[in-house]
Amino acid sequence: MFLPFEEGELEIRPSKIICLGKNYAKHAKEMRSEVPKDPIIFLKPPSSLIGPGEKIILPKMSKLVHHEVELAVIIGKRGKNVSQEDAMQYVLGYTILLDITARDLQNIAREKGLPWTICKGFDTFAPVGPRVVAADKLDPHNLEIGLKVNGEIRQKSKTSEMIFKIPKLIEYISSIMTLEPGDIIATGTPEGVGKLEHGNVVEAWIEGIGELRVEVE
Ligand code: MG
Repeated sequence: MFLPFEEGELEIRPSKIICLGKNYAKHAKEMRSEVPKDPIIFLKPPSSLIGPGEKIILPKMSKLVHHEVELAVIIGKRGKNVSQEDAMQYVLGYTILLDITARDLQNIAREKGLPWTICKGFDTFAPVGPRVVAADKLDPHNLEIGLKVNGEIRQKSKTSEMIFKIPKLIEYISSIMTLEPGDIIATGTPEGVGKLEHGNVVEAWIEGIGELRVEVE
C-alpha cells in the first residue's frame, strides 16, 4: 500500500508495527488500569494494515470491537540502542493509525494472562493514512487528535497528553528490537474508545495530517 508523502508517495511496508498501551492517563483510567511506570508495548502484524477507502471487517470471533485513534511514527533509518537525544533523527514522518481492538477477546486475555496477539492482530485492524507528513513539518507533541463515528465525536484530545513522548519511546523500543526503515510506532490512544458496528463510518483526524475515513463492513 502507498500513501502520499511530500511530492510523491511512500510504500507502507513495515517489518513490524509497535504499539503503545495506556500512553494517555485518561485512557488508562477508562480501562481501569494504573498509569504505567515504563512504556507498555505490543506488536500488530503488518498483515493487519489497510489504507484509506478500505473496510474494517468485524471478525466472527468477537462481539465487541473498539476503535482507538493514534498518532503513528514512521521510522526513517535503522536504529539500535538509540538515545533520546538522537531519537528524532530516526523519524521519517507521521500518519494516523487506528488500533482496532477486539475488546472482549482482550478482556479474556487480560484475565488469563495471555498475549494480546489475537485481539490486536486480525486482518484490517490497522487502518493508516490519509498521508505521511514529513518529520520537520509537525510538532508531534502538540496536535489535536480525534475520531468520529457516523459524524458523532467519540474521541478528542491533544497529543501533548501522551505520558511517554516519542524520544523516550524510540529509546525504549530500540533497546529491545532494532527499528527498521518503514517500521511504525503507534503512540497510544486517548480516552473515548468505543464500539464499532456494521456499516459505521469512521473519520479520524490529527491536526496537520488530515482525516482518515474508513467504513466498517
Ligand atoms: Mg492502542
